[in-house]
Amino acid sequence: PRRLITPEKRDDDTETSVRPLSLVDFTGQEAARKNLGVFIEAARTRGEALDHVLLVGPPGLGKTTLAQIVARELGSNFRSTSGPVIAKAGDLAAQLTGLEERDVLFIDEIHRLNPAVEEILYPAMEDFQLDLMIGQGPAARSVKIDLPKFTLVGATTRAGLLTTPLRDRFGIPIRLQFYTVAELELIVRRGARVFNIGIAPDGANEIARRARGTPRIAGRLLRRVRDFAIVDEAATITRTIADAALKLLDVDDIGLDGMDRRYLDIIALSFGGGPVGVETIAAALSEPRDAIEDIIEPYLIQLGFLQRTPRGRLLTPHAFRHLGIAEPKAHSD
Ligand code: ADP
Repeated sequence: PRRLITPEKRDDDTETSVRPLSLVDFTGQEAARKNLGVFIEAARTRGEALDHVLLVGPPGLGKTTLAQIVARELGSNFRSTSGPVIAKAGDLAAQLTGLEERDVLFIDEIHRLNPAVEEILYPAMEDFQLDLMIGQGPAARSVKIDLPKFTLVGATTRAGLLTTPLRDRFGIPIRLQFYTVAELELIVRRGARVFNIGIAPDGANEIARRARGTPRIAGRLLRRVRDFAIVDEAATITRTIADAALKLLDVDDIGLDGMDRRYLDIIALSFGGGPVGVETIAAALSEPRDAIEDIIEPYLIQLGFLQRTPRGRLLTPHAFRHLGIAEPKAHSD
């Protein structure tokens, strides 16, 4: 079954209506908002393109939303694509030549660009030039084409996934953090207003606490709880209603689901709490290593349940307490 609490976008997520449209409406991420605000203001005052922006952080924290806001606040067009979608250098060249001055080009999952495409991006970002090879064999020649001065906004889950030359070409690197429960409460209440359903403060708190620091998950849980409230003919989402709905949906009181518990159980029970290598865990769970590192582990680390050590993954006493399993004595030697 698909996970309700996965931070990645699912095709049944209807997010457009709840996306904040301006920096002021964007909740949380104080540092990112302040930085972007200053740089956007400066670029507008000088009438220049904004420097290239790299947004780094786990899925669902608002990278796409921020990129759209940047374009909107600059008064520029927003063009969007993603690393895996750009198969050939020519595809990217076509995107770039279609841009207008000061447009924002958003490339999601920019770490998944293929190397030949990335080569095209370097001179485009640095000198606003396209270096293309035309023809093949002895007849091949290179042509340079001037591009409009645009802003590239790249998004990635981990900065370490980018090659150094690509990373170095972003003047404005921005790291997004998991949201606090208080921030998620605001996002949930705003969502409820958009959906036109009543929510009590304790209902918003219950959803926020289980949303794993992630607005996308908060929105998704809100939609599911709303369905539940409608069927129950409740006019207002209270803590009781939210709790009952989320229990049924297998999301526990700190936002863990069956997959997280399986991950924790395997380390706790099969490997004595660790340290155990991520490849071993991936094999035991039959999950790709990437999914474990990008989706499962960041929130467990954030909770203080898990440490990444040079010798492998290590559960903390905190995790054992949540699991209700006695911690093996020798485990944290
Ligand atoms: P990402 O690109 O990082 O995966 P998105 O920008 O697509 O994340 O955001 C996922 C969902 O969460 C969207 O519905 C968006 O409206 C909502 N969201 C993200 N950040 C915020 C925020 N700071 N305030 C309100 N809603 C947010």
